Amino acid sequence: MSKFLNEKISKLSAYVPGEQPQDKKYIKLNTNESPFAPSKKAISLAKKEIKKVKLYPDPDCTELLREIANYYGVKKEQVIVSNGSDEVLNFAFIAYCDQNNPAIFPDITYGFYKVFAGVNGVPYKEIPLKEDLTIDINDYKEEKGVLFIANPNAPTGIKLSLEEIENLLNFNRERIVVVDEAYVDFGGETAVGLIDKYDNLLVTQTFSKSRSMAGARLGFGIASEKIINDLNTVKYSTNPYNVNRVTARLGIGAIKDDKYFKSNVKKIIENRVYTMVELKKLGFEFTPSSTNFLFAKTDRISGEELYLKLKEKGILIRHFKSERISNYIRITVGNFNQMKRFIEVVKEILGELV
Ligand SMILES: *Cc1c(COP(=O)(O)O)cnc(C)c1O
Repeated sequence: MSKFLNEKISKLSAYVPGEQPQDKKYIKLNTNESPFAPSKKAISLAKKEIKKVKLYPDPDCTELLREIANYYGVKKEQVIVSNGSDEVLNFAFIAYCDQNNPAIFPDITYGFYKVFAGVNGVPYKEIPLKEDLTIDINDYKEEKGVLFIANPNAPTGIKLSLEEIENLLNFNRERIVVVDEAYVDFGGETAVGLIDKYDNLLVTQTFSKSRSMAGARLGFGIASEKIINDLNTVKYSTNPYNVNRVTARLGIGAIKDDKYFKSNVKKIIENRVYTMVELKKLGFEFTPSSTNFLFAKTDRISGEELYLKLKEKGILIRHFKSERISNYIRITVGNFNQMKRFIEVVKEILGELV
């Protein structure tokens, strides 16, 4: 740290992304990426666009907004696109949180929320999940501030019903509820249909997971026109060209290629079931997953040991050190061969234990 760093940033502990090792080839089941290639339609549109990168992109991303709006049945004025959904989440922190409006989120959830609060110098409050790692929405009833709810939640994979989301919105209509739907395509229920009814709702989604575009960085928010205007004020005050030309094309292609998207999601769900069934036979327990990952534990080996042994054998999964979940591992659901190999290696590791 240099002596010049300001107080706010020097106190910060930055987000630690899952490993992206560049040294050797692992089976990567650690950062919830898709095992499938991006849509061919998307790639062919993007290829044509590369030639135009000498020009700035359309700062409004009009075509992409129109495509997303059509797909979700909303107006394009109710959509904002961003450099990954992380960016639109940060816009929400900037726009809505302050000393009187802390960020409120579960104690076990997406680790970035805490970091966004820190970098923006706003207070936050963590509400403990129940013993079974589910969210009790009644715990949020009296909280004042801005709610950030990942639905389905990460890393537990557990979803809230749309009715529960609606209750959260109704508890206090003067409070913004941000519903982070990064994993919704794998079995959650989207709250997008509620944006006309609730002016305190912001839904965020991403192309990173279900649309195989983690490396392109594209996310979006859907909300009332007024909320989208607020977020655009932040966008145009920080980075008006936040979505580059090539990524915007990839996004348009990915949305148009709905068949490919749906077939990939279906495969992930099938592979999730396969992996669960096999792990269950080996003595693992799970939280009920509505995502492209499993959150599992077993009495046979600690989460950390299993993570380390799998890494030695060329398979990366995620292990979290925080106390309540330190015995769990999070396994991204990959393609069938990856999951078959994963199960083989887990069997090998368990067999080597004395
Ligand atoms: C992956 C993820 C995101 C954001 O991903 P982007 O790649 O920035 O779109 C947001 N929330 C949760 C819960 C996630 O797991």
